[in-house]
Amino acid sequence: MKHDSTTSRPPASSQLPAPLIDIGINLTHDSYDADRDAVIARAQAAGVVQMIVTGSTGPSTRLAIELARARPGRLFATAGVHPHHATQLTPELLTELEQLARQPEVAAVGECGLDYFRNLSPRANQRDAFNRQLELAARVGKPVFLHQRDAHDDFVAILREHRAQLAGGVAHCFTGSGPQLRAYLELALAIGITGWICDERRGAHLVPLMREIPADRLLLETDGPYLLPRDLQPKPAARRNEPAYLPHIAAAVARARGEPVETLTLSSTAAARKLFRLPGKVPPASAEGSQAF
Ligand SMILES: [Zn+2]
Repeated sequence: MKHDSTTSRPPASSQLPAPLIDIGINLTHDSYDADRDAVIARAQAAGVVQMIVTGSTGPSTRLAIELARARPGRLFATAGVHPHHATQLTPELLTELEQLARQPEVAAVGECGLDYFRNLSPRANQRDAFNRQLELAARVGKPVFLHQRDAHDDFVAILREHRAQLAGGVAHCFTGSGPQLRAYLELALAIGITGWICDERRGAHLVPLMREIPADRLLLETDGPYLLPRDLQPKPAARRNEPAYLPHIAAAVARARGEPVETLTLSSTAAARKLFRLPGKVPPASAEGSQAF
């Protein structure tokens, strides 16, 4: 926001940053423990009016819901087990996850999917945990927040089996190829774009693909604290990504699409609200209850 130093008038509402939604922020990560409230405040000041806090394990899902409850209407959570932690998805945790996924603060089931890049859980366990969570998402009628790395073929094959029962989903942190993007679009998925696109070494292939994503299926996310946009100036000393940098990512995506950032902001915010059924009216920050977490 620009401040007019010559008068004391408050800025007109048209000067406020356009409302953005960070659909994937790992706000339970311990790198935010010391200053989580400040991170949230900076996001709000940057125009990031709503955020979906990623749950990736049982404990992080419980914490994400706790965070969302303290900031109703502004923070939401996902409930799920990341493929890295697939071996943790016991029948007991699956039962609890279903209860958690039914909570009103929970906007999606996940993150779930397959990650054959690091294989931190055996692939068979990953496929099993993915199947169980897709079934769960169908039962609770909420969209899925999907993670995929180096596992495209298995991922698409499993999704195809469940797709008709699912209330939509997003391929979060999309970094793949044109054919992979088209496969996701054919599955009627939304696409989550991160600051990966700001990396001229690894993300250049994404730039020409941005125009292929329908505006009503293009979502924006930081995936903080990971994936600090590589071209941020000045570079934050902490090297930690946070939702206040989402406007920087939005600008890069808008440039790639050849459209004004205002257009992308409006369409991506509307698309996020539609997929995750988020309220269009955001309560003021002062209305929130406990800051405790
Ligand atoms: Zn992920």
